[in-house]
Amino acid sequence: MQILHPFAGSVQQYAEQLANPDAHRPGHCPQCQTKHPLTAHGFYTRTLIDAAYDGVIRVRRYLCQACQRTVSLLPEFVLPYLRSSLAVIALFLIARLFRGQTLQGAAATAPPPMPYQRGQFWVRRFRAQAEALCAVLAALTQPAPAPDFVHRALAMLESIGWIAAHRFLFAGVRCHLLGWPRGLAPDGRRTAFSTAGAPA
Ligand SMILES: [Zn+2]
Repeated sequence: MQILHPFAGSVQQYAEQLANPDAHRPGHCPQCQTKHPLTAHGFYTRTLIDAAYDGVIRVRRYLCQACQRTVSLLPEFVLPYLRSSLAVIALFLIARLFRGQTLQGAAATAPPPMPYQRGQFWVRRFRAQAEALCAVLAALTQPAPAPDFVHRALAMLESIGWIAAHRFLFAGVRCHLLGWPRGLAPDGRRTAFSTAGAPA
């Protein structure tokens, strides 16, 4: 399964921190609840597109000796199964859904250049998820008056901060900001085995 790497900073700082397996080693297993610290178990790689970065990052993996399952520590600036960083996705969604820019305009607002169809896919998923987000995020902030759930969810995300909201959703309630891909709902876990997962 994936849990969050408790770290906020640049991609570069994240990469430097990864060298030390003790820095954020989980002290217990989140899957079988055994109380032993997990064993470092290498890395997997995934792609990342951020404003100033387009490449591969490593994600540290740990193994639980008790249940023999792995846990990977996903940095907070990415969403599981999505290639673009949370910041890029947030910029696009705000431009398109909050400010009413065209798809092409919103794609130009959220660097780096990308096909607008990618943003269209985020919009579709965000719309489907907006009402649930409003309900869950009400634990963190007062819902503001808004014409619909999409606007309300965006206002709440802006007020909480997207990364803080993602941290709460993912670590607290196993909710994916844009909804889990089919087959991983409701909590992002496959039924049989946990998986590192390739970003879509
Ligand atoms: Zn375990």
